[in-house]
Amino acid sequence: RKMVFKLSTGSDKLDKLLGGGVESMSITEVFGEFRTGKTQLSHTLCVTAQMPGKNGYIGGKVMFIDTEHTFRPERLKTISDRFNLDQTAVMENILYARAYNSEHQFELLNSVAAKFHEEAGIFKLLIVDSIMALFRVDFNGIGELADRQNKLGQMMSRLQKISEEFNVAVFITNQITSEFNNNQNLLEETHKPVGGNILAHASTTRIALKKGKGNKRIAKVYDSPDLEECEITYIITNGGIAD
Ligand code: ATP
Ligand code: MG
Repeated sequence: RKMVFKLSTGSDKLDKLLGGGVESMSITEVFGEFRTGKTQLSHTLCVTAQMPGKNGYIGGKVMFIDTEHTFRPERLKTISDRFNLDQTAVMENILYARAYNSEHQFELLNSVAAKFHEEAGIFKLLIVDSIMALFRVDFNGIGELADRQNKLGQMMSRLQKISEEFNVAVFITNQITSEFNNNQNLLEETHKPVGGNILAHASTTRIALKKGKGNKRIAKVYDSPDLEECEITYIITNGGIAD
């Protein structure tokens, strides 16, 4: 029987917000404007996923799909140091793939599934940073929206299947609509995650990230049926995401 596990984000408060951490056999999405820490969180999870955790979790390998060319091995070194892990060993447990367009991003999931099958039970986390960036480039006209959503739906259902079949946590980052508005209240309204209903339904857990003062960031549960809709703050450090 497959045992669901939860990965630590590096922040106890954020873990609590998530109901214990980033869960396996499901899709967790974080979204927010630039510099809110989506990529830093992805890097932190690359390391924490390799460490033993709660309920007998033993740690495992990570698959990182990078669509924006923002994966930084240098960052993994300082995060490894924070957790007293060997830098080289941490790097060797991360399989990296760069996606060049949305079609390629989708095709990569075949290789991912093959790899997860080949090394059965070894991979624990699949990251896609970011899920929508290439789709927004490849389907940029309003006339292409239906087609985009159709392809996106196929990809999300593939991700869901992979998470369940191989008992891995799927962690995706997402962008927000960028209408500029000076009114604080309206900002809340307009800064929605992209991807529409398809992504809303596919992601089990959605977390909105916002900027706070200095290196402080704010995380808030978004539209969840079973998580409390509270918000917490976390910080971005040289050692990754922390309280
Ligand atoms: P985008 O939408 O552009 O992809 P993002 O949400 O992925 O943005 P990140 O790249 O995760 O944003 O976060 C960038 C932030 O992390 C910046 O504010 C930067 O100052 C901070 N940061 C990056 N590296 C470090 C570090 N070593 N120590 C402290 N803070 C850092
Ligand atoms: Mg990023």
